[in-house]
Amino acid sequence: MKNRTVDVVVIGAGPAGYVSAIRLAQLGKKVTVIDRAELGGVCLNRGCIPSKALIFAGSLYERMNHASEMGITVKGAAIDMPKLVSWKETVVKKLTGGVGSLLKANGCEVIAGEATFASPKSLVVKTSSGEETLTFNQCVIAVGSSPAKLPGFEVDQKNILDSTGALDQQSIPKTMLCIGGGYIGLELGTFYAKVGTKVTVVEAGPGLLGGVDPALTAVVQKNLVKRGVELKIGVGVKSQKTVKNGVEVTFADGKSEVFEKVLVTIGRSPNGKNFGLEKAGIALDDKGFIPVGPNRETKVKGIYAIGDIAGQPLLAHKGSKEGIVAAEAIAGQKTVFDVLAMPAVIFTDPEIATVGYTEAEAKQKGFDVTIGMFPMAANGRALSVAEPDGFVKVVGDKKTGRLLGVHIVGVEASNIIAEATLAIEMGARVEDLALTVHAHPTVPESLMEAAEAALGHAIHIFQKKK
Ligand SMILES: Cc1cc2nc3c(=O)[nH]c(=O)nc-3n(C[C@H](O)[C@H](O)[C@H](O)COP(=O)(O)OP(=O)(O)OC[C@H]3O[C@@H](n4cnc5c(N)ncnc54)[C@H](O)[C@@H]3O)c2cc1C
Repeated sequence: MKNRTVDVVVIGAGPAGYVSAIRLAQLGKKVTVIDRAELGGVCLNRGCIPSKALIFAGSLYERMNHASEMGITVKGAAIDMPKLVSWKETVVKKLTGGVGSLLKANGCEVIAGEATFASPKSLVVKTSSGEETLTFNQCVIAVGSSPAKLPGFEVDQKNILDSTGALDQQSIPKTMLCIGGGYIGLELGTFYAKVGTKVTVVEAGPGLLGGVDPALTAVVQKNLVKRGVELKIGVGVKSQKTVKNGVEVTFADGKSEVFEKVLVTIGRSPNGKNFGLEKAGIALDDKGFIPVGPNRETKVKGIYAIGDIAGQPLLAHKGSKEGIVAAEAIAGQKTVFDVLAMPAVIFTDPEIATVGYTEAEAKQKGFDVTIGMFPMAANGRALSVAEPDGFVKVVGDKKTGRLLGVHIVGVEASNIIAEATLAIEMGARVEDLALTVHAHPTVPESLMEAAEAALGHAIHIFQKKK
């Protein structure tokens, strides 16, 4: 077995690992990146990017079929699934190819192989051409997560799918059961509903999208029902058996139904097992994550953990930010990870985007809150693109005027949240949002008006004088 010493090794080339590697290289470090699968990780290959490509296509198709009220009649619109899936792959390939080029241009060594810890200072890497031992000065663990498994519903990617299988279907199923009403299930379920599948979502918990302000979820829920999605909330699944035309699922209430496809999206499990972490002296917490300090160093000096393996929220941009923090810490900079302004977007229809405290969280933390709401139906741009559903909700601190949170459900929520995130990061007050001139007609004007509403003087809704 070959033996060599490297400077910094990054295990995993997802959005956490590859971003960290590039930042490390920018800071003058000699970087070796190891990945057992494709560059770009789950996000680029089986997550954020391919799902959003399909969701865009589904929305375009639905729009074409519903454009007649604008006087546009589209005849013969149809979805060619093999072509759609292959177009989605070209998007993925462009981005993963870009990651490869960037790593190369930054002088990073990339090894296609599986890494296992041999000690707190070394790894064994298995590649197609054999094994080698790498002794490192520092290591960044960015091994990510995988779809959580549901006992009794083993994924075969034929009848029972996980998110990976759902992104690669060659035909449109007539019926689909999504087990789990979290964001992945609802995003993919919405796509299938838009292209003609009769979708049922079953959620064992008390509601869809746990953790999101229920007022936002209610708008998405109403739209799912309008699209013909059947919701079974507060009901679990008990068992399944393969039948001639699909899978017969028995629910906890004793009822059974046959679905052509079953999609299991009950969450993600961190990939912390089976790569020798114990030999590095690192123990997982009770949820399977690697505990980390403010700069993402683990309890073992010189070993950092970032991205999904380092804990909630399991989001690509959270991992990328942690990757930058860890890289800068390795390069000797004083840096910490601040999660107060961590945006989260759910690409349902309409989209949901949130940052900062919800009203309930702010109250729980003892703030005397001030709330401002503005409906998309009163925003000129939202109406002119035929997307009147939803609203912007601003949560502020009555005492200081500080902006504590912004919660949006509606068109372009995914884009507007960036302004709200910057505002919270910069310690803006609700009044700062209200005082900022917003271009007209744009959807972000609704953020300004929600801030004005919190102050009691929104222009485009009537507010009673206090
Ligand atoms: C369907 C779907 C949609 C999503 N949509 C979004 C979204 O819109 N926005 C968002 O922010 N997030 C989204 N996510 C979540 C996002 O994909 C993850 O949060 C993100 O990919 C985590 O990045 P990571 O770098 O920590 O890990 P990963 O992307 O999981 O990458 C880890 C990498 O480590 C490699 N690896 C693991 N173990 C080893 C080993 N022992 N040796 C070598 N290599 C190893 C793997 O091959 C993999 O490439 C989505 C996820 C799914 C499944």
